[in-house]
Amino acid sequence: MVVENLAEVEKHVCEACERAGRSRDEVTLIAVSKTKPVSMIEELLPGGTRDFGENKVQELMEKYEVLPKEIRWHLIGHLQRNKVKYIVDKAYLIHSVDSLRLAETISEEGVKKGVTVPVLIEVNVAGEESKFGVSPEETEELVRAIAKLPAIQVKGLMTIAPYVENPEDNRVHLSKLKQLSVDIRNKNIDNVSMDVLSMGMTGDYQVAIEEGATMVRVGTGIFGERNYNI
Ligand SMILES: *Cc1c(COP(=O)(O)O)cnc(C)c1O
Repeated sequence: MVVENLAEVEKHVCEACERAGRSRDEVTLIAVSKTKPVSMIEELLPGGTRDFGENKVQELMEKYEVLPKEIRWHLIGHLQRNKVKYIVDKAYLIHSVDSLRLAETISEEGVKKGVTVPVLIEVNVAGEESKFGVSPEETEELVRAIAKLPAIQVKGLMTIAPYVENPEDNRVHLSKLKQLSVDIRNKNIDNVSMDVLSMGMTGDYQVAIEEGATMVRVGTGIFGERNYNI
C-alpha cells in the first residue's frame, strides 16, 4: 500500500510543480513516518525515498539505530532542550526551532560534538493559540540572534498551517510564509541562507508547492491514518 500511496502523492507533487512552473527537483517530499513501524519505512527504500520525518526524539533515535545510515531524518516536532544532545548528530535537519534558548542549547551540543546543526525556524503563521512557533513579526529578530551562535545554521522557515477542510483556505498563510522568507533573505544576514521553506502536509501540500514550498511533509497520504492508542 505505501508504495502505491507514495506514487500517488508523487504524481500530485509533479502536477503542482508543473502548475507553478517549478522544477520537480526544487521540492523535497518528506515521508512523515511518526507512529509507523520500521517495516513500512523499509518498503519505501528500494524506490529511493531517503527523507523521513519524525516528531519525537525517542522514536527517531530508535529508527535511526536500526535503519540504513543514508536515511535523512527530519525532526519536525517540538524539541525539548533536554533532548537536544541525543539528536544534534542524527537529524539531517531540525525543522522546529522557535526560541533563542533552544537554539543556544543546540549550538552548545553542536560544539561538543563538532558538528554544525542545520535548522529551520518554526513560524506560527496564522497566530493559532495552540501552536508552537514564533510570530511572523518576531521571526527576523530571532533569526538574527541565532545567526550569531557558533554551531547552528539557519536554513529557512517552517510552518504548520491550520487544519482546514479546503486547502485553498491555507493559501494566504502559505504565501505569507514565503513572503517572510524572501524578506529575510533580502536582508543578507551572515550565516543565514533562507533556501528552505518547509510547509504543506497531506491536506495542503499541493497548494504549498504552488506557493513556493521546497519541502513538504506528508504522513497520512503515504502511510495512512495514524493510531495513537497503540
Ligand atoms: C504529523 C506531521 C505532519 C504530517 O501530517 P499529515 O497530515 O499526516 O500529512 C507534517 N508536519 C508535522 C510537523 C507533523 O507533526
